Amino acid sequence: MKKEEKKTEVVINEPEVAVEKEPVQEAAEKKPAETSAKKTTAKKTTTKKTTAKKTAAKKTAEKSEKTEPAKKTTTRKKTVKKAAPVVEEVKEKVVEVKAAVKETVEKKKKTRKAVKPEPAVEEKIVETEKTVEAEPVVEVIAEPEAPESPRRSVVFIGSECYPFVKSGGLGDVMYALPRELARQNCDVKVIIPRYKCIPWEYQEKMVYRGAFDMDLCSDGRRFYVGIMEYVQDGVVYDFIDNEEFFSSGNPYTSIVDDIPKFCYFGKAALAALLYMDWIPDVIHCHDWQAGLVPIYLREKFNNTKLANARSIITIHNLRFQGIYNIDTIQYWSGLPDYVFNKDHLKQAYQDANMFKGGLAYADMITTVSRTYAGEIQTPFFGENLDAHLRYHSGKLRGIVNGIDVDTWDPATDPMLYEHYDISNVIEKKKVNKQKLQEEVGLEQNDGKMVLGLISRLTNQKGLDLLNAIIPELIDGNTQIVVLGSGDPQYEDSFRYYEYTYKGTISSSIMYDETRAHHIYAGADALLVPSLFEPCGLTQLNAMRYGTIPIVRETGGLKDTVEPYNEFENMGNGFTFDRYETGLLLDAINRAKTVFFTDRIRWDEMVQRDMAKDVSWAKSAAEYKNLYLELTPR
Ligand code: ADP
Repeated sequence: MKKEEKKTEVVINEPEVAVEKEPVQEAAEKKPAETSAKKTTAKKTTTKKTTAKKTAAKKTAEKSEKTEPAKKTTTRKKTVKKAAPVVEEVKEKVVEVKAAVKETVEKKKKTRKAVKPEPAVEEKIVETEKTVEAEPVVEVIAEPEAPESPRRSVVFIGSECYPFVKSGGLGDVMYALPRELARQNCDVKVIIPRYKCIPWEYQEKMVYRGAFDMDLCSDGRRFYVGIMEYVQDGVVYDFIDNEEFFSSGNPYTSIVDDIPKFCYFGKAALAALLYMDWIPDVIHCHDWQAGLVPIYLREKFNNTKLANARSIITIHNLRFQGIYNIDTIQYWSGLPDYVFNKDHLKQAYQDANMFKGGLAYADMITTVSRTYAGEIQTPFFGENLDAHLRYHSGKLRGIVNGIDVDTWDPATDPMLYEHYDISNVIEKKKVNKQKLQEEVGLEQNDGKMVLGLISRLTNQKGLDLLNAIIPELIDGNTQIVVLGSGDPQYEDSFRYYEYTYKGTISSSIMYDETRAHHIYAGADALLVPSLFEPCGLTQLNAMRYGTIPIVRETGGLKDTVEPYNEFENMGNGFTFDRYETGLLLDAINRAKTVFFTDRIRWDEMVQRDMAKDVSWAKSAAEYKNLYLELTPR
């Protein structure tokens, strides 16, 4: 329902649009753009250091592994005796490093100049901080003086964002990437719908920023647009408020409702930017729900202040495209006839495809892994848009997702039974495993290998393969714990298996964030046998928690999980290529062989996975570079 308040209108497509603002209440008294920019800048200074430190630390760790083979051998031997070789090795280094640090400090004091530390010393210092408690003297020196990348403003427009609303990986990315971009000198705003299902703890903290009426439909029908705001960690979240569209309990209901909902949302997001006079350099759209944004930008906002903004659209999953008949989409979007042609919105004979149109209109297309960027240009993965994507391949890039390593940190994760890090993972994971077994009704036995599955239960996720081989996996030493919801056929088959193999298989048919964390921490391995996987986040979460991924080599799974190499004792998990039951079974059996017969190597892989950089730092920098490329000054 429209809110009965005094409104002003946002006039779009007029030269020099003057957006008249109504008196804004409460906290909106401050100039909002300024407020957010200030907050972002303040945050930036501190967080930038952390990011630089982490990146440098990672580099040093890799470098020292490569350049110090003798040390590496020693470490291997130590691993046999003790389950925390990495810490031992680092401690040895710390002594060396401290000496170097002291020397540098002395020099610094003498010269009383701001001397930039030698790169080698600087890197070692940073590594010290990573694994061992930082000493004050280290803090003084480890100031990275890297030249700052130029500032850009970017707005994220998408249909979900953790922790407000999340149904899958899109929600995670909409949360973590903007935070990392804020650290990398971006002024970031995120716009999502204000669904009724957003928890009250966030709703109550939102601040009213204003409201206006917006023309939408081809017959001139107008709709209320309210803006509610919430600021956290340098990122400004604006929620588009309209109960008529967003009052259902779930962000997605049926396509019949979703088409008008996201026609409205895309235009309202741009109109809200104009209303707030927050003019970004880049408008970054996510998935089909924001598909019309690049089109509106050029067709409806071309005479506004937004006209110079560049647009990017990211494909998180090409399977969902927002397809409906042309008449309906044309009515709800109010877009002109000529955009409904076969190169833009039109699909087949009488359908319009919102994603297709967005891909054509956007200045740049990205997808969430390099492999998926190639795959979607082939008929098998292209979901009928492969030719369209081949045509636009010049502006298509693959940038792999990361995860928010602060949220996903087994050393601090408030949901875990027992915290752990790389130094005590082997012992502490046992505690988490036992608690998990107890929680989900499995026999509590540390000797069993626990295989986890955390997934939407759809045919994308390779569940046909898994269902077909479950009886063969049950060998008296293996347990399976499933968490997911989705298609009834898979929900029922997992329920059936739980019933048949009581105490050995557990199926939680639900969405449960806490249980997901318990599985990441308590399982020995995580199954991700997907038919296709644009990036996949569960394998990244798993590695971060020292759980070995068993994955099919597709999309982001291929890009993020290096197969175990028994000859060189390298790799992060077990993989298979063709989509065949026998190959999944083989991959699981290879994992079992190492788990049961060579536990030292298994434990080393656990530690290797925990040490792997799965953060957003590198990929966010790639996005930042893309923004700079699109907006040269
Ligand atoms: P997709 O986006 O295709 O669903 P991703 O692997 O990219 O798959 O992201 C899935 C995200 O959703 C992960 O963070 C995962 O932990 C979470 N997730 C999936 N299913 C569940 C569930 N049933 N309960 C809790 N979290 C889940």
